[in-house]
Amino acid sequence: MTTRPALPARRSDDGRTLIVVCPGCGRRHVHGRHNPTTGCTAPWRDDTPCTCPTGTGDGHRAAHCSNGAMPRGYIIVEVEHDHLESRSA
Ligand SMILES: [Zn+2]
Ligand SMILES: [Zn+2]
Repeated sequence: MTTRPALPARRSDDGRTLIVVCPGCGRRHVHGRHNPTTGCTAPWRDDTPCTCPTGTGDGHRAAHCSNGAMPRGYIIVEVEHDHLESRSA
């Protein structure tokens, strides 16, 4: 039985995407985070950050590996920025 790994994901500065470092190919993969059911208006205005709560984008995602290393995908789990490095720019 093969289980899907759970990976910590970082929120992008605008909150619209989650970024994980893939254990299959070693690259970073970017996944959408926004969920329209939260009332967040991010998708309708280009200059509006996504304000969906932490964890909105968590769940199973297909991996974007170019080498096909993760055919079952993985589970992404958003972690708060404050517990990681401070943003660099
Ligand atoms: Zn949102
Ligand atoms: Zn990958």
